[in-house]
Amino acid sequence: MTQSQRKNQASSSRVSPDTSAIIPYKDNHDETSQLKALITQNGIPQVSHVEPPEICNHDDVILKVRLAGVCRTDVLAAQGKIAVDNNRVLGHEFCGEISKLGSLSKRLKVGQRVAVNPVITCERCLHCRQNDFHLCGKTQLLGIHQDGAFAKYIRVSQKQIYAIDDSISDKLAAYAEPVAAMLSILHAEIPINSQIVINGSDRISQLCLLILQQHGYQNISLKTDTPCDVLIITSLINDELLLDQVNPGGLVIIKSRSPFQSQLNLADVVYKRLTIKGMNYSTFDQALHFIQKKATLLNQFLGESYALEAFLDAFEESQKKVFLRAD
Ligand SMILES: [Zn+2]
Ligand SMILES: [Zn+2]
Repeated sequence: MTQSQRKNQASSSRVSPDTSAIIPYKDNHDETSQLKALITQNGIPQVSHVEPPEICNHDDVILKVRLAGVCRTDVLAAQGKIAVDNNRVLGHEFCGEISKLGSLSKRLKVGQRVAVNPVITCERCLHCRQNDFHLCGKTQLLGIHQDGAFAKYIRVSQKQIYAIDDSISDKLAAYAEPVAAMLSILHAEIPINSQIVINGSDRISQLCLLILQQHGYQNISLKTDTPCDVLIITSLINDELLLDQVNPGGLVIIKSRSPFQSQLNLADVVYKRLTIKGMNYSTFDQALHFIQKKATLLNQFLGESYALEAFLDAFEESQKKVFLRAD
């Protein structure tokens, strides 16, 4: 599908741009010019020029992206290993500055620096209707299902926006999504004295370790095959998932959205009466609160910023969370 076909298809399913919904904005960007963005086409990522996003609904907000973090989800989407439409603008972890507001966005101000929850909830399920949006099971993600943040500007709903304190840096604000994801393990009801093994040793596993330690858990090891009461899967591999090390009656927490097939030894689950829990997200409020309190500890995970054109270098740098800027 060409870019114009995709655009036509997208606009036919949306409300047409409503200029009365626009509060005059002070940003100087020229709406008629195209802006560069990192897109993917047939599994090949490239910097291309895209139309600037417009206000389409009353609760839309246009943000200038200050900085966007690179996540393994973005890399897999860029490579076509996670399905995305051609010409999709990638990127979902970012800090933005409000550039334009729809008419419903009364609590927000142009120029305000914000964090953004990239998860778009269905608004229809029981959990959404009870305002437990983090429990919605029919979510979409910016940068996968809608255009994302590896661009100069992005359109989001005001519901996704969180005001941030001046003490939270752009990089930490952009790091809120992985923190919200990893804080979800605290909702898995892990007994405090459990022997815990985290199966990975990468950056996200280190974040998992830090979050558990900061919440009183002490018996935690990374990537060992020692017996444990709780196994946290942060790294799903394309292989049989061995549960040998989990003690009878133990808990297995799946905290990875791997696109690869994994085989679970279900006989072990039965014989050892294991409990398996999938954890997705905690709330963004909880993530921003944790970030504000533990900024110094979290800064160790944050790396360099790269220009958008250097995305391949950024993709290769996986030891730390790295960022892209579409200056
Ligand atoms: Zn992410
Ligand atoms: Zn829902």
